[in-house]
Amino acid sequence: MYCVKCRQKRDAQDVENVTMKNGKPAVKGKCSVCGTGMYKIGAHA
Ligand SMILES: [Zn+2]
Repeated sequence: MYCVKCRQKRDAQDVENVTMKNGKPAVKGKCSVCGTGMYKIGAHA
């Protein structure tokens, strides 16, 4: 997943599938380097 803080692709920790307010699936995780929340919209892990 892409980390907006590192501005690089990073491995995500604590990855979980979530549903956004508009009903679309997304994947939520944490950057393994800086701990910033990461989202990937439109897919489930
Ligand atoms: Zn990061």
